[in-house]
Amino acid sequence: MQVLDGSQGEGGGQILRTSLALAIVTQQAVRIERIRARRDKPGLRRQHLTAVQAAATICGAKLSGDEIGSRELKFQPGRPRAGDYRFNIGSAGSTTLVLQTILPPLLLADGPSTIELIGGTHNPFAPPFDFLERAFMPLLGRMGAHVALILERPGFYPGGGGRMSVVIDPAGRLEPIRLITRGEIRGRICRALVSNLPEHIAERELATVAGDLDWPEECLEMRRIREGFGPGNVVTIEIASERVTEVFTGFGRRGVPAETVASEAATEAKRYLTTGVPVGEHLADQLLLPLALAGGGEFVTLDPTPHTTTNSDIIRRFLDVPIVMEEETDANWRVTIGAPTAATR
Ligand code: AMP
Repeated sequence: MQVLDGSQGEGGGQILRTSLALAIVTQQAVRIERIRARRDKPGLRRQHLTAVQAAATICGAKLSGDEIGSRELKFQPGRPRAGDYRFNIGSAGSTTLVLQTILPPLLLADGPSTIELIGGTHNPFAPPFDFLERAFMPLLGRMGAHVALILERPGFYPGGGGRMSVVIDPAGRLEPIRLITRGEIRGRICRALVSNLPEHIAERELATVAGDLDWPEECLEMRRIREGFGPGNVVTIEIASERVTEVFTGFGRRGVPAETVASEAATEAKRYLTTGVPVGEHLADQLLLPLALAGGGEFVTLDPTPHTTTNSDIIRRFLDVPIVMEEETDANWRVTIGAPTAATR
């Protein structure tokens, strides 16, 4: 049995998610101790518990410690089974992070799967729906696994009630990719979305991003949503280049001015634009697992975050794939997974 320390490195939920995903893929039992020890409210929260239960459901795992607040979990996986699944977090917890847990094994399962997820779709500290749809999934598509996402209804903290449908067409095996340069920029759009909130919030956010990035009117779009539960606001900046699309997000929250929310996203986008890297910091930590499963890959990114280094450490506990991170120039890092020559595209 693999024993993992949930307090290592970054010390958050990603250690749990990556461990569960790889426990299923490699068919190894795991015990995870000190779960989310470095978070304000450690242990399993609703979202993590749903991720654990979802992971157990898709492979018929034997489980203990699967309770709210639990800091230790034992998980003995069975074979992953393609199927039609539905998981309701029961709070505004992030649906995309539940998906992050069960996607890798279902990508390699013996048939297509559908998943309906209910909870939050645009949560701070989690990949928002738009990031998965526009940035992450197209790269998985290039690796040979096709995943379609439908945002049935957005869900924000604290109202929740968002719904996302996922259709997974597995790859059999994933192919390595290389993302060394991003190529020419082909499209830029900033979307400010408001759900049950005044339009001036979105207008101020668009004006802030336009000012910070010096973007013209045609790159700005307001979206009003009336069917959402409770209030919600998110501003996304999407930069589509020849070889990769990146999405940067500011999450509206109570007591934080719209200008600050928009500036957070604009600052990230500006750094991405000026450094010239193809892969931003969130995409970097999330690409490691599929590339490790592919047995290779290579990308250029910004300085590795604690999420990236911790995820890399966890992956290496399960898979015999080297992951090397080297600084090339100031703020440009090359991440190589597997032997450098294994990367083919
Ligand atoms: P953890 O903090 O361990 O629960 O992990 C959070 C995960 O969400 C990591 O994979 C982050 O890269 C990802 N994440 C957080 N914020 C964003 C964002 N704005 N866009 C995309 N991914 C994000």
